[in-house]
Order: sequence, then C-alpha cells, then structure tokens
Amino acid sequence: MTLAKCLRAACDHADQFLVGSPETTQANAPFPHISALGHVGIDDEAAIQELIQIVAPRVTRSGSGRYFGFVIGGATPVSMAADWLTSVWDQNAQAYGSSPVAAEVEATVAGWLLDLLALPATASVGFVSGAQMANFTALCVARNEVLGWAGWDYDGQGLFGAPPVGVFLSEAAHATVRNALRMAGFGESQIRALPADDQGRMFPGALRHALESHAGPKIICAQAGNVNTGAFEDFRPIAELAIAHGAWLHVDGAFGLWARASPRFCRLAAGCEHAHSWSVDAHKWLNVPYDSGWVIVRDPRAHARFKTAGCAYAGEPDAARRDGATWAPENSRRARAFVLFAALRALGVSGVADLVDRCCDMAQRFAGRVVQERLATVLNDVCLNQVMLRLNAPAGVDAGGFHEAVAAAIQSEGLCWMGTGQWRGERILRLSFSNWQTDIEDVEAAVSAVARAVQAVASTQKRSDT
Ligand SMILES: *Cc1c(COP(=O)(O)O)cnc(C)c1O
Repeated sequence: MTLAKCLRAACDHADQFLVGSPETTQANAPFPHISALGHVGIDDEAAIQELIQIVAPRVTRSGSGRYFGFVIGGATPVSMAADWLTSVWDQNAQAYGSSPVAAEVEATVAGWLLDLLALPATASVGFVSGAQMANFTALCVARNEVLGWAGWDYDGQGLFGAPPVGVFLSEAAHATVRNALRMAGFGESQIRALPADDQGRMFPGALRHALESHAGPKIICAQAGNVNTGAFEDFRPIAELAIAHGAWLHVDGAFGLWARASPRFCRLAAGCEHAHSWSVDAHKWLNVPYDSGWVIVRDPRAHARFKTAGCAYAGEPDAARRDGATWAPENSRRARAFVLFAALRALGVSGVADLVDRCCDMAQRFAGRVVQERLATVLNDVCLNQVMLRLNAPAGVDAGGFHEAVAAAIQSEGLCWMGTGQWRGERILRLSFSNWQTDIEDVEAAVSAVARAVQAVASTQKRSDT
C-alpha cells in the first residue's frame, strides 16, 4: 500500500505542478528552516509531502516553454513517464548479465540514434550522464589512440612519460571541453585554443598552421553548435586536415548534432560524419529528463579499450551481449535507454526533425521580432536555435550592468527566463530555443518581457542620474 500511496502522491503533485504557470514558483525564495533528521523516521508519504512542500515552490521552471536560459530543453510527458518506470524497474545497466533487457534496449536505441544522426552504423555508443562525460570519454579514447599511433602503449605505460599530445580547439569551445581535457590528463600547455571568427568558428587556415607546428600526436576538438551562436565549424576542411596530420577529430555536438536529424538543417553539420568521435546530449534538445547523453566512437575496439583493457571486467566486447559499462565511465547506473526508447518512439524520425525545426523557427521569429521592435541588435547569424542580443543601453549607462539588470528584471517578473552571457568581451542577453512546447505565443511573451524590462531598467537608471 505504501508504494501505491507514495507514487500517487507524486503523481497528484505532478499533475498540478505541470499545469501551473511558470510564475507560480520562485526560484530565489529563501530556503526554509529544516528540522534535524531525527532519530526515528517518519511515514513515507509524509516524507514525500515534506519534500514537495520544500522543493516545489522553489523550482526553477526550466521545463517551461518560456525558459530560454542556457541550453536546457525540458521533459516531454512520455519521457517523464518512462523515467518513472526506469526507477520502478530499477535495472542496473552495467552489464548484459545484470539486465539483459536494459542491454537490448540500449542496443536498439543506439542503432536508432546512429540512423537519426546519419553516423556510421558500426560506431559504438555509450550512454552517459551528459555531454561533458561524453567529451571526457571520447577524449580519453582519443588520447590513448593517438598515443598508440605514435608507438606509445597507454594500456601498459599509462600517461607517465608519454609523448606530449597536442589538443587543438577553438577559443569559443564549450567550457566543459576544457574540464574534460583536464580530467583526461591534459595541461594548459598542451591545449591550443585557436582564434575564432565572429560566430565562434575555427579558421581552418589557423588550424593548419597550428597542426604543422606540433610534432607529436594530435587531437582536434571541433564544435557542432556553439553555445552562444549555434554556429558549426566548417567540418570538411577540418576533417581533411585531421587526415593529413594523422589527428583524431572529436566533435562536441551536445545540442547541435541534432541538426543532422532535420532535412532542413542537416547541411549545417555536413562533414562531421568524418570525425572519429562525437558527443551529444539527450537531456537538452531531445527533451528527456536529466541526466542523459551519448558518446559515439567510430572504432568500437578503440572505445572498448578505453576502460577495460587489462582490467577486472576485461574481454572483447560481445556484439550479441552488450555490457553497458564497457562504453561509459560509470559502472552501475540506471537504464537511461528506457526513457530514450519511449521518447524516440513517440516522436519518430519526422517528430525529431519537427522538434528541431520548430525550435529553430521560433529562434528566427524571436530575432526578427526583437529587431522589428527596435529592442536590440541580434549579434549572431541565427542559423539554429540560439540568439544573442545586444540591448540598446541608454547613453552613459554601463552596457554590461544594463544587460545584467534587464535579465534580473525579466527573471524576477517570472513570466519568462533568460540570462546573460559573455561574447567576445561583451555582456549580452542570450536565449536558447530548445523546449518542445515553445510556440508563437511564447515568443511574443519573450519579446514583451524584454521590452518591459528594458523600459523599467532604463527609467530607474535615468532616475538615479537626476
Ligand atoms: C551543454 C554543453 C556541454 C556540456 O553538456 P552537459 O550535458 O552539461 O554535460 C558541452 N558542449 C556543449 C556545446 C554544450 O552545449
């Protein structure tokens, strides 16, 4: 009885929560005083109710169609329900032996994904917590492989005394790529951040120059979807340079790789199929709950060696009996593929394309409306789902502070959420359109929220002048 009661309490709350409008929660509301743990526990249902009482009023409404911060996404109803079931079944997706059904569903979903993204059908896929772990895994594989190409045996010798590997990326690469490199054993002196153009793309000429000046093993990290501009690297010349210089090419496509699932936008990511590895998130644009992403590696043998060579769980990967832990850093973990199965099945090939297209269309529309209303300058080519705005700050007012104040005013009004970012030394307002619900009304709400906030902040700034 207690299980049914707990789940019902959760379900009743979810029903109310999901239909509630975004402004009914206050993410910055003060956190209440919590009583000591207590020696004796309380009733299960009461514990759930206490959790709801504490958390629900303070939730950041990032699942809403009017949340434009970072690149967040949301969760579709089907993915939420599958996520609950994943907990109910509580499978350990570590090995075939621990859950054959989780392994089979992973294999199925991996095939669907490679098909959707038009990546090599023989590539291996690891189910990870997100793009940073995907980048980390891919860069570990890359590191071991390029060392191997240079005659260094990572499996036997590790990194100690290894020839220095050079990593080449754009200065506009996502910050988590740097974190991943750090965790993978790279120091700052091995990372070459190359100048980027006004959309955050590497200059292939500068890349060639940098590659020519490094004698040792090389890894190139390219980007499908810059987090500020949405821009894609020029993959064809970069892939040719990778071949010419014997470099590993990794593509961070946390959200941008989904462009490949859309006939309208796939040309943006053309050429990145020539890479050796890719990262992509599910919890962003596919709109499944956290935490879910994939690492994809062209050469499954290289991928499998990253973790298991010579270790306790060693052995050749067996295509018929997939061990999930072979392809990801974690060992025990939830069966993330159940959610992905349901989410992808519900959308179908055209549904995924529609999701991408709709978000890009809304981004375009918003950018157009902002210009029409003379609220701001759009700083990026809105090629995908990201929009960067430079607001017209009143004369004599600090532009950076003005952007911060406008974002704060929008957030505290609570009807929409958007944040600031840093772009080429300038504070900007940044929006991401990556939620399945965002429609034309939401775009209008965002435009008017910006207009109100700009006016309110400008008038207080003027008042403080006089
Ligand atoms: C979000 C993002 C990441 C990091 O992904 P997580 O899912 O937060 O680990 C990496 N690269 C890009 C381009 C991103 O947008």
